[in-house]
Amino acid sequence: MISDPVLLAYLDESLANEKMVEVELAIRNEPQLRQRLTQLIAQRDVGVHSIGDIWRRHRLSCPSREALGSFLLGAMLDQNAQYIQFHIETLGCRYCQANLEDLKAKAKAAEESAADTRAAEAVARRRKIFQSSVGRIQSNPRSS
Ligand SMILES: [Zn+2]
Repeated sequence: MISDPVLLAYLDESLANEKMVEVELAIRNEPQLRQRLTQLIAQRDVGVHSIGDIWRRHRLSCPSREALGSFLLGAMLDQNAQYIQFHIETLGCRYCQANLEDLKAKAKAAEESAADTRAAEAVARRRKIFQSSVGRIQSNPRSS
């Protein structure tokens, strides 16, 4: 069953590629769906926009980048996370998918550089310990 928001997203061509194909096939095979799509197009042409339609046009239904970041970290209320999941996975909003991919890449890069820093710190720590123990041995060669 394809919902109206998905059909509207299809009309806006804002669905993910696989989803576009899926909807297109469904429209071809289901006369009912074609009828619903015709109605939606007619409503749009007459200027009868649902709030959802207007929001979609202005991308107000797209979560902010901060919200996407929280979503990525899993630091978000369930209902908000569910909305974002619906928005990205079911509607397949390309804009947000790209945004999320970018955030993931940045988070990964940050994690890697943090890991590098930690590794460098560990090396520096070992060197310091080594040097201080060498120093002790050299300054006090006959200590037992
Ligand atoms: Zn979006």
